[in-house]
Amino acid sequence: MTDTIFAKIIRRDIPANIVFENGDVLGFVDLNPQAPVHVLFIPKRAIATLDDAAPADAELLGKLLLAAAEYAREQGFAKDGYRTVINTNSHGGQTVYHIHVHLLAGRQMTWPPG
Ligand code: C5P
Repeated sequence: MTDTIFAKIIRRDIPANIVFENGDVLGFVDLNPQAPVHVLFIPKRAIATLDDAAPADAELLGKLLLAAAEYAREQGFAKDGYRTVINTNSHGGQTVYHIHVHLLAGRQMTWPPG
């Protein structure tokens, strides 16, 4: 798999505002926030897209979602609510091919998304 900008963030080769980290997952503030809170959660072991995920990745994908939920609870967003998004491939709007969960919070979300 080719290196992505997120791999560089994991290695600390480029700076990011890292707000969450455990053994498997890193969370950092999105450079182009779409809500008052916009944090990206990425697995330290890269999977390119959700379409590339295999049964062997089930535990890591679970940890990715749980990391977002843990952060939202800790930061106090959970009660009002938040949105989690995984964009997949071109029509999904994916631009960085290292799977990531967007956590958006701090405003009323609308549906359907664009
Ligand atoms: O789901 P998608 O692949 O479009 O999301 C990529 C996200 O990564 C964008 O929201 C973009 O703002 C963010 N990004 C970032 N820091 C970078 C490069 C991209 O926060 N250095």
